[in-house]
Amino acid sequence: MGIELHILGTSSARPTSKRQVSGSLVQCEDGIAVIDAGEGFQTRYAAQRKRLKLFDKGTSLRAARVHVVCLTHGHLDHTWGLLPWMHTMSLDKREVPLLVLGPTSPEAFDSLCAGTGVPDSSASAELARQITGWQSLGGTSAELGYSVRWVLGDVVNDRWMELNDDGSTSLLSSMPQPEGWKRNKLHPLPSNHSVPSCSWMLESKGSLGKFNRLMSAELRLSDEEKLRLSSGEDIKRVDGSLLKATDFRGEDRPGTRLIVSGDTSEMAESLSTVGGVDVLVHEATFMDDAQQWADQFQHSTSTGAARTALAAKAKHLVLTHFSARINDANLPVAEAKGVLAESGIQVTAAMDGDRIHISNSGSITHRFWAENGWKA
Ligand SMILES: [Zn+2]
Ligand SMILES: [Zn+2]
Repeated sequence: MGIELHILGTSSARPTSKRQVSGSLVQCEDGIAVIDAGEGFQTRYAAQRKRLKLFDKGTSLRAARVHVVCLTHGHLDHTWGLLPWMHTMSLDKREVPLLVLGPTSPEAFDSLCAGTGVPDSSASAELARQITGWQSLGGTSAELGYSVRWVLGDVVNDRWMELNDDGSTSLLSSMPQPEGWKRNKLHPLPSNHSVPSCSWMLESKGSLGKFNRLMSAELRLSDEEKLRLSSGEDIKRVDGSLLKATDFRGEDRPGTRLIVSGDTSEMAESLSTVGGVDVLVHEATFMDDAQQWADQFQHSTSTGAARTALAAKAKHLVLTHFSARINDANLPVAEAKGVLAESGIQVTAAMDGDRIHISNSGSITHRFWAENGWKA
């Protein structure tokens, strides 16, 4: 199955006639993570499920498989659809627990821990403000009928806390991973924006190749011999023949890394140093002619996203989060290609409804939504 990202919104700040605000789902064998849920998220999510039903019966994105919501930051184009969708899941009698993760500032973290609430100096879009507001609007386990954990992180210092339904906070020893996830891990990567923010990386563990049972049966190996070979040990048999462990293994399956950047200026340190990235979905709010705006509002240009992809050693860069000024996404792609020319890094632009797939063997496909199905 691998990893598949469904991108449900590709505009920045406000919807346009063709693009909606941020929101995506990433599906792996352990379950589904929602990464950001801007205004209208549940409508777009339902539309994507309907498309899958019509055009790709093998795939489903059931809400019961969504175990975690990862927010990149508190700007409303990334968060404002979360609570209404959570209410809908309550009407649908959801039973599965939901974990919500997001970044906060060190100051807000300290103040919340001390029981003095969100400091006045915090940004209006501070996530802690929204979460406490949502709790008072019915976003609690008791009112929703399923377990919700609201977890905030001072991501830069890797400190984590839970905002409890009764208004108290609990310090956590580390960021919780979704319950029951075994092969996939979520990592927040601090990014540079006008409010506390982070990118989210889904890392899927690699695995050893399959043990060749047929060959071991033909050679009538003992259980002990099989165990030693499968653990990577070469063995010498009684008849003097040498059996090499590598001859009994199929090819190893490499681990995979998918990053969704959220909003950030280019070359966020955590992104430019992480390395070994398969797919980097990076914001490209502006084109090169608006570099000053990108600097002023801490966003990226298409070439800035490309420079970050180079530094991250990404295999594939997907541009998203376009300003309403960008009518033709071929233009930012062309600009990014100028930076990536010699690198071999692929670059594509996302439209609402697109799917990015990384197979278990590491091959990457961008499937573009085209009104009556997806086209690679
Ligand atoms: Zn945004
Ligand atoms: Zn933002």
